Amino acid sequence: MFKLRLIQRLQRIHGGTIAAAGMALCVGAFATSIVWVGLIYLEERRAADLLSISPLGQLEALAHAGQFAALKSRNMASFEGGNIGAVVKTSPYSYKLQMRSDNDDALPHSWRQWYYFCLDDLPTDAPVTVTVEGLGIPNYFLPFYSLDNVDWIQFPESGVKQLNPQTVQITLQFKQSKIWFARYIPYTYSRLMRYLDGVKDKPDVKISYLGRSPGGRRMPLVTITEDQGIRTKERVIIHARTHPGEVGASLVLEGLINFLLSDSESARSLRSRVIFSIIPMVNIDGVIAGNNRTNTAGINLEGQWIQAATSSLKLDAHKTPGEIKLLNKAFRDMLASGVPVTVALNLHTSAGQPSDNVFAFPHFGPVGRGYSPREAQLYDKQIKFINLLAEAYGQDRIMAPPADGGRYFLARRLPESWWWLNFQDRVMALTLESTYGLAGKSGRWVKPRDLRALGEALALAIGSYHESALALGRTRRPMIVQ
Ligand SMILES: [Zn+2]
Repeated sequence: MFKLRLIQRLQRIHGGTIAAAGMALCVGAFATSIVWVGLIYLEERRAADLLSISPLGQLEALAHAGQFAALKSRNMASFEGGNIGAVVKTSPYSYKLQMRSDNDDALPHSWRQWYYFCLDDLPTDAPVTVTVEGLGIPNYFLPFYSLDNVDWIQFPESGVKQLNPQTVQITLQFKQSKIWFARYIPYTYSRLMRYLDGVKDKPDVKISYLGRSPGGRRMPLVTITEDQGIRTKERVIIHARTHPGEVGASLVLEGLINFLLSDSESARSLRSRVIFSIIPMVNIDGVIAGNNRTNTAGINLEGQWIQAATSSLKLDAHKTPGEIKLLNKAFRDMLASGVPVTVALNLHTSAGQPSDNVFAFPHFGPVGRGYSPREAQLYDKQIKFINLLAEAYGQDRIMAPPADGGRYFLARRLPESWWWLNFQDRVMALTLESTYGLAGKSGRWVKPRDLRALGEALALAIGSYHESALALGRTRRPMIVQ
């Protein structure tokens, strides 16, 4: 916790003009691109793409060296998952806060999305204005506040204004002097561990650990299945929070796990047929640090499936970050158990336009567009899965997939690239993006219950996918894992 009274001045804002130019570049990209290119741009862009608008001259050299340096921290929110760069009280009833990006501003300003801070000297006798400056994504989102850092309330729309693409202003009268603020409901490592503690004694669930993150925290694996007939089952692997600021994915997982552990007939049926292997938080250190995009070494873990020279299944021991090595080892162990893997989901939360619905990134496309039969088969499976999800969640709440998913993923060292290179269309590997914005055509803001409902729909779609025999086809050929 920080004491605002001790802060005498707003910290220097690095490169404001350059950051503004960068924002103009972002807006230009949106204006000239089709929506899918825009979404890929938001979610998959690499640090190198943005170096030209970086406020820090040394970024380019650091990127060439393979990672960003840890600079002296300017994070004022010194609690788990907290993130804000600078705070100043500009009058008895107004505060100005400045965003910071991951790891002491070692990323370009345009990556600043996650804020989570506490003010503890708020007056309570009149409305207070809190202005957050330096937001990296030009889209407007409706933030949350909390009286106890446990239960969160979304601000009324009337209390929040977007002054410009980089600035959000909140005006509200609070009933106590200590209030927590966040871009969306924080979902910390501690919260995850409390949640897992609450479900660990239910039937058919086992909590184990893949190992420790580079920062020394245990990385949990949740296994859900009925403890019988393992040999005839299929395995579904789901991982989330590779990007630490994407808290929505954790609420989706809560919905999925709650449903899978329920007494409903379809949940029981799923547990009897499928082994769910869920890694709920990949970037634990980044979540604890309050990062948005990277781990504490400044690495975007999403594109780090760097294959070893001697094996397409193993990853390069020296170049691969520890978190991804743990994930890869877990995947290989699961494959070696002999249970075929049919679905591998990678859960994210998009910071696209608030009007964007939930969407997925299918790869390749139909044969008619020049793809091979195996490539077209993967695309076909992905499209059918997305359609099943839309049936379960609501047609108006899932974005229609593109007619051509492209090959871009092959060069990006994503988990989906690794699955394809090793198992082609046998594993329906897919990244799914939940959103924080407006829920479908209803025009209201996405609530935690919407995200949990998406998790439940995901479980139902997985069930339908396996019932349709899409998962395995006609045979249960063993997967070669050596
Ligand atoms: Zn992401």
